[in-house]
Amino acid sequence: MRRFQVVSVVLVILVGLTAIAFARPANAQPHAQDASSHMFVIVQPSTEIQQGRSALLRVQILDGSQPKEVQATFLGHVIYLYPSVDGDWVGFLGVDMEAPRGTQPVEIFYNDTDGVQQTFTQEVSVVWGAFTYQDIGLPYALEPLLDPEINREEEETLLRAMNRTTPEKFFTSFITPVRDIVISEFGGIRNYNNDAFTGRHTGTDYMATTGDPVAAAADGRVVFIAHLPIHGNHIIIDHGWGILTGYSHLSEIQVVPGQLVRQGQTIGLVGATGRVQGAHLHFEVMVNGVWVDPPQFLTLPLPASLPNP
Ligand SMILES: [Zn+2]
Repeated sequence: MRRFQVVSVVLVILVGLTAIAFARPANAQPHAQDASSHMFVIVQPSTEIQQGRSALLRVQILDGSQPKEVQATFLGHVIYLYPSVDGDWVGFLGVDMEAPRGTQPVEIFYNDTDGVQQTFTQEVSVVWGAFTYQDIGLPYALEPLLDPEINREEEETLLRAMNRTTPEKFFTSFITPVRDIVISEFGGIRNYNNDAFTGRHTGTDYMATTGDPVAAAADGRVVFIAHLPIHGNHIIIDHGWGILTGYSHLSEIQVVPGQLVRQGQTIGLVGATGRVQGAHLHFEVMVNGVWVDPPQFLTLPLPASLPNP
């Protein structure tokens, strides 16, 4: 009996210590950091980023400068950073699903008080995106939409619409626009009709039926509305700080370009327009001009901003 009690006490202590070891504050997520005498850089959640995923870039200015702007370049894209309430400059890194794997530099720069440009290179490691392979059989009537020229034109139209960053921060958080039931993952390598065409999946597909309301994922401004051959009836919302969301295959669009929308507001109805096998919601997230994995983006620790000027 006594021996049992001693074992019990030891067990309780061990469990307690383990709980303390793992009970870290919610914001103390694994991150990597590096420093120069001018900047302290943190990449959240990690400097190892999968293809097609996104990360938060936080920069603390250590030299007392109060720069008007802080920028970075990453994989050929310009990243604008914005001041957050905690004093950090914050931007979003989007890794293209086809980005080369291996060590990639994030070049961060600003002009200090003396007008001298300060730069710092933070390395990140781009790793395989663990994408799925998907075989898709489209009905005969939709086969013309496998024409590479139609696909190229539509991609260019969307990239033009996505290529923007707005200093005004509308978002505070992001939600999935319909019930969170994923039926097809982001980045999938899609083989249509036995090698007639191979494409990549630029969003995440959610199960839904025609007529279901589609909610804005966050506050923002509608910047693009079109009926596209592949995406069907499509809406793009700009949430600020380089983050945009897209909603495809809608049966109905209930917003107009330039309109401000609130998170959760119905912007349209689920449908089956464009190149689809049936009704569902195709949802896209764009980070500084790059399509990224929406469910993973939704897990990022989003910064709070200073009030808009
Ligand atoms: Zn889709």
